[in-house]
Amino acid sequence: MAERVFNFAAGPAVLPEPVLLEAQENLFEFPGIGMSVLEMSHRSKTVIDIMEEAESDIRTLASIPDNYSILFLQGGASLQFSMIPMNLVSPEGHADHIVSGHFAKVAFEEAQKIARIDLAGSTELQGFDRIPRQQELTLNPDADYVHFTANNTIFGTEWAEEPDSGSVPLVGDISSNALSKPIDVSKYGLIYAGAQKNLGVAGVTMVIIRDDLIERSKDNLPAMLSYKVQHKSASAYNTPPVFGIYILGLVIKWIIDQGGLQEMGRRNLDKSRLIYDLIDSSEFYRGHAVTEDRSRMNVTFRLPGSELEQKFVEQANLNELSELRGHRSVGGIRASIYNAFPDKGVEQLVSFMKEFERTNG
Ligand SMILES: *Cc1c(COP(=O)(O)O)cnc(C)c1O
Repeated sequence: MAERVFNFAAGPAVLPEPVLLEAQENLFEFPGIGMSVLEMSHRSKTVIDIMEEAESDIRTLASIPDNYSILFLQGGASLQFSMIPMNLVSPEGHADHIVSGHFAKVAFEEAQKIARIDLAGSTELQGFDRIPRQQELTLNPDADYVHFTANNTIFGTEWAEEPDSGSVPLVGDISSNALSKPIDVSKYGLIYAGAQKNLGVAGVTMVIIRDDLIERSKDNLPAMLSYKVQHKSASAYNTPPVFGIYILGLVIKWIIDQGGLQEMGRRNLDKSRLIYDLIDSSEFYRGHAVTEDRSRMNVTFRLPGSELEQKFVEQANLNELSELRGHRSVGGIRASIYNAFPDKGVEQLVSFMKEFERTNG
């Protein structure tokens, strides 16, 4: 097999090797079926079983209460920016959005095209280097929901704890930290994640929704955009992204095999600490996020000058450390180290950073 590099991409991102190998093995002929999962009808028993098993494994892994449903939708996390207000804002109603980063801002802007959305808090003026504090939020007690972004993929900040929305349903975009630590789903009305960061491949979005909220979908919504229709048809109103759901199912099984969410949480904290400890002990590297709000998933930092950053990325590439360039909108360096990112790659990055500082600092 060809050497694999350490892939620090923010998404699509690294997958667990056992998942890739199992998918490869089953790609030509799914065991006992005589055809590939890529070729199967979504109405076939095999595919229905794959979808049901993925759902029941997610339920087990994240202890999803019985009054929540799991949907596998398309359109990425970005389509949820519109579907959520379409389905959950009542006639004449309104919702609150907390803006803590790039995708949070896009979600806010997109939702405003659909309904009245109030800005509950923003850290944009501080360059999104931190998460708003609870006391900085202006929350309407009669809002239909409060939307927040659990991990800010581009800026490298993460909520240590969910905002307290009181009795208003909390909606969370967990695209870049889904199933990276234990989660208390009962705190939420709805959570969603595009799969291509922590859960699998692009093309499927996981939505976990409390059943009473499904009832809010108005009957005049386009069927594809209605949670009620998608739920009634078990995420198969039209052809679902079968291959993406299959991979997601394998990733969930891998997390369970590794010891579940507690173990993922421990590993992700340990991995990110290795890099943050180096940043804290160095005058050369400067972290973007304030210490308390650092992301365990996307570690963002700068070097003294963009020329050094360019050189850093180039030399890292020569050392099998790929995709470390920060998002085009902010520059700098970003190491995305999701669930599937191996310890060894983080150790290799830290050694490389020390050596780079020694020769360029
Ligand atoms: C990547 C990302 C998105 C956008 O996901 P798509 O599936 O490409 O639409 C939204 N929110 C967060 C937090 C992300 O990291």
